[in-house]
Amino acid sequence: MNEININITLGILGGGQLGRMSAMAAARLGIEVIIFSPEQDCPASHVAKETIIAEYNNEDALKKFSNKTDVITYEFENIPLDTILYLEKLKPGSVLPEKKLLEVSQDRIKEKTFLNKLEIKTTRWKEIREIDSIIETCEKWQCNDFILKTARFGYDGKGQIKCSSSGLKENKTLMNFIESSKNNGIIMEEIVPFTKEISIIISRDNNGKTAIYGPMLNEHKNHILYKTTIPCQIKDSARKTALDVSKTIANAVNLIGVLTVEFFVCNDNIILVNEIAPRTHNSGHWSIDACCVSQFENHVRTVCGIPVGSSKRHSDAIMINLIGKDIAKIDEYIESELTNIHLYGKKEVKSGRKMGHVTRLLEKTISNQEDQ
Ligand code: AMP
Repeated sequence: MNEININITLGILGGGQLGRMSAMAAARLGIEVIIFSPEQDCPASHVAKETIIAEYNNEDALKKFSNKTDVITYEFENIPLDTILYLEKLKPGSVLPEKKLLEVSQDRIKEKTFLNKLEIKTTRWKEIREIDSIIETCEKWQCNDFILKTARFGYDGKGQIKCSSSGLKENKTLMNFIESSKNNGIIMEEIVPFTKEISIIISRDNNGKTAIYGPMLNEHKNHILYKTTIPCQIKDSARKTALDVSKTIANAVNLIGVLTVEFFVCNDNIILVNEIAPRTHNSGHWSIDACCVSQFENHVRTVCGIPVGSSKRHSDAIMINLIGKDIAKIDEYIESELTNIHLYGKKEVKSGRKMGHVTRLLEKTISNQEDQ
């Protein structure tokens, strides 16, 4: 067995709550963290050894970041690809997960093309450039309603609209959306009548060993994740498909790090992939309190060359996000039994802003043999 080096300085691009919780997990392993973020006083900076505050295209700052770190990872997928390419030029192999998944997850058109090539099912989709191709596609699909999404830079329901196929040319909102989004690319998707939204998080180390969290059941309010429940009640065949799909993606790119796969579960237990992200995910926050090794620790471990740890769950759990003014509810949660509170140190409360989360632990309902 290779000797494990834990005398490591880890660089994290991005300073939000995912970076913060990864830095906290790294600290437990004695790994020092340097954050790179354009934002002053970002949540991750409160718990890191150092923060470099600079724009992602600042080459001098990136050189300093590269010199001070052994391995670099990222906490969100909209880090410019050029930043990763530049860091890789400075120190080949230093950025993990490898850029293929990042590139794919930044662009819904590349993402769906990549998944479909692996014979993984997604919603029916079409790249759109102008109104005529929407009209043509509606006729071809025989659909009444559809969704348009910007291919790049959309998140939490931003950059997408639902439309009806009648009166398309008179629909001003639609025409404005096409005009304002065409530089980022536009994708048209069939609306799928899903029964559940679920996710799986898979971490994979440099020996190809994996640890899996989920599937989790995810519920949204105003397009923002509000509640995650583990375990999630789905048929064994659907669970198996979701797990197989996650492993197929991780193996296809020789993943070192963490990958999240979000799915729609439809009638007849058809499973469609909605999105993928090469990073830790909000739907895995419960793993800090309910698992032997959390998604954050496994992110740190795998990118730092440490074997992936056990994702075994000792409790079932429900995670609730504290969004905007929900932060006031901590008075109520603080006295609840078996409830852990996590706050992200964000000073300003804004509508839709993730301020923290709570995890309520529950007695485990299924045995370890049946469970991930
Ligand atoms: P996304 O940004 O693609 O994750 O979309 C945000 C949310 O919109 C999803 O979590 C779904 O609830 C809903 N949604 C997105 N795409 C579709 C679709 N093709 N059919 C039905 N609902 C969708």
